[in-house]
Amino acid sequence: MKTKSRKITLGTKEWADSNVNCYYGCSNNCRYCYAKKMAIRFNRKTEQNWKVMEPNQKAIEKGYSKRRGRVMFPTSHDITMESLNGCLIVLKKLIDSGNEILITTKPILSVIKIICNNFYKKKDLIQFRFTITSIRNKLLTFWEPGAPTFKERLKSLIHANKQGYKTSISIEPFLDENPFLLVDELIPCVTESIWIGKMNYVYAKNVKINEAIFFKNIQEINTKENLIRIIEKAKTYERDNIQIKDSIYNSIAH
Ligand code: SF4
Repeated sequence: MKTKSRKITLGTKEWADSNVNCYYGCSNNCRYCYAKKMAIRFNRKTEQNWKVMEPNQKAIEKGYSKRRGRVMFPTSHDITMESLNGCLIVLKKLIDSGNEILITTKPILSVIKIICNNFYKKKDLIQFRFTITSIRNKLLTFWEPGAPTFKERLKSLIHANKQGYKTSISIEPFLDENPFLLVDELIPCVTESIWIGKMNYVYAKNVKINEAIFFKNIQEINTKENLIRIIEKAKTYERDNIQIKDSIYNSIAH
């Protein structure tokens, strides 16, 4: 298959011009988390305490002015009940300055309800990007042990959509061989794009015998054949809102 030459803008640069974070660590503790890898490498966190979320007071207390382009919040932690207060403070400052915000989260319904209520009058500045990587809780529990169930994330999407917010989805990394079962389930509540990306990094130390199957499964779904199948299938959707991340194009180019 021929692939046209593309400018590679891996990770969050495909989605926004700048990022804001206000906590260290993330209780979701995903096994593929690149932020965790970097935090451990630069001695900001350890494997053991990554899931303990600590407020970055400087980031919470400082002012935020209008930035050029879209701001993604957060990128190296999630918005959970325990981090919600700090996140609301930062979000308010960003929004009050007129910034356009992409809120990325593995959503918890109660948290999404509060965010929707708090910023209802400024909802035009907000787009939600909910990360939903599989329809199967067995896979979610293994790869994203502290994150909400599929049902909880789906309910959050339905709620934000009903409230009139812009909604989009990140299926990155896709965990099912065929991510379109998930796409079809979510698409009625999605007003913007659905992004599909592959797993680029995985923390695979101390893997137990009964866990090896999960890692093998990721290798199997990331074959060139399956990635090409996904690209082709995305083209069959009438609405032009299924987007393939550069991580996939990059992978099949070699
Ligand atoms: S939700 Fe994001 S930041 Fe948190 S552990 Fe998972 S990948 Fe890392």
